[in-house]
Amino acid sequence: MTAPAGPPALAPATLAVCAGRPEKVPGAPVNTPVVLSSTYVAAPPGAEAVPVYGRFTNETWTAFETALGALEGGDALVYASGMAAIGSALALLPEGGRLVVPRNPYSGTMIAVDALAAAGRAKVATVDLADTDAVVAALDGADLLWVETPSNPLVEVADLPALVTAAHARGVLVVADNTFATPLVLRPLDHGVDVVVHSVTKYLAGHSDVVLGAAVTRRADLLARLATDRAVRGAIAGPFEAYLATRGIRTLALRVERAQANAAVLAQRLAGHAKVSRVRHPSLPDDPGHARAAAQMQGFGAIVSVEVHGGGDAAERFADAVRLWLHATSLGGVESSLERRRRWPAEALTVPESLVRLSVGIEDVEDLWADLAQALDAL
Ligand code: PLP
Repeated sequence: MTAPAGPPALAPATLAVCAGRPEKVPGAPVNTPVVLSSTYVAAPPGAEAVPVYGRFTNETWTAFETALGALEGGDALVYASGMAAIGSALALLPEGGRLVVPRNPYSGTMIAVDALAAAGRAKVATVDLADTDAVVAALDGADLLWVETPSNPLVEVADLPALVTAAHARGVLVVADNTFATPLVLRPLDHGVDVVVHSVTKYLAGHSDVVLGAAVTRRADLLARLATDRAVRGAIAGPFEAYLATRGIRTLALRVERAQANAAVLAQRLAGHAKVSRVRHPSLPDDPGHARAAAQMQGFGAIVSVEVHGGGDAAERFADAVRLWLHATSLGGVESSLERRRRWPAEALTVPESLVRLSVGIEDVEDLWADLAQALDAL
């Protein structure tokens, strides 16, 4: 078969820079401006569709949505936060439907899922995401499967192709929270996932100055339902936040490349440190997710979770003892940060007390290591 005619597909690093720009016509701005308008001049009956109202559409959102859509390979919607996007995706579940979720997902997702279950609006099965047989067994009679790629904070890697095949054979929708991987490392829609959600707050925006979310899909029916949900719940982004997130996407490829290279170096060194009992990062050959990640991801991401000897107290002391690293929640910024996840009461009990999640940034790796080493040595 001959290849279809047309320009060659652009590489992700190129799309990150050029997708969602204004049309190149003389005098046009290079960046879509921040459009601040709650309403728009009405069009006469029968005229081409134009923006109508600021809760339905915004040109600055569209620039971001075009860029993210190009990277994920679908149609994107920007939301007020990652949790707003997650709420919209969970709303795809029919009333009283059966939801299969990882036993230790992002804690905010678990709180949202627990609230649905408590209100009798969902029946929830929790599974070990890395145990493909267990997930498949839970899919009979299910409506929606939730996965994280990889999971937060245990950095587990699900067998995405196997899970999507099993889910679709049973008519189950699959939603992937792709916050950790970013579309530079994994494109879940290429594996058949129905909806991707993001905390744009993290890598996509990338500078810890924005709270924002997104959902992406190739299915027109799901896109319409998500867009309606966003509009009626008013879970919309501020134009300035959307502008900053688009600006973040422009450097995503460079940031992810550097951060995951740093992460692989640090994971290996941490694994050899006497105060560390376990390192979770799929770059490590003996990590349970290594083979899967190597098969389905373009790299291993930049989140590394470590467990230290001495339990939760030692982990807190470690997190407090860093000087260059930022002891703070959240992740995916240019700056390296870390946090003991069980300090959050809502964190799953399957997350060890002594686990510290590291979000590796783009600083010089030797400076990052020196700081981690002095904090660990002091334990
Ligand atoms: N998904 C993951 C994997 C996260 O880590 C987070 C936040 O930490 C969220 C979703 C929620 O995103 P936001 O804080 O932007 O609402």
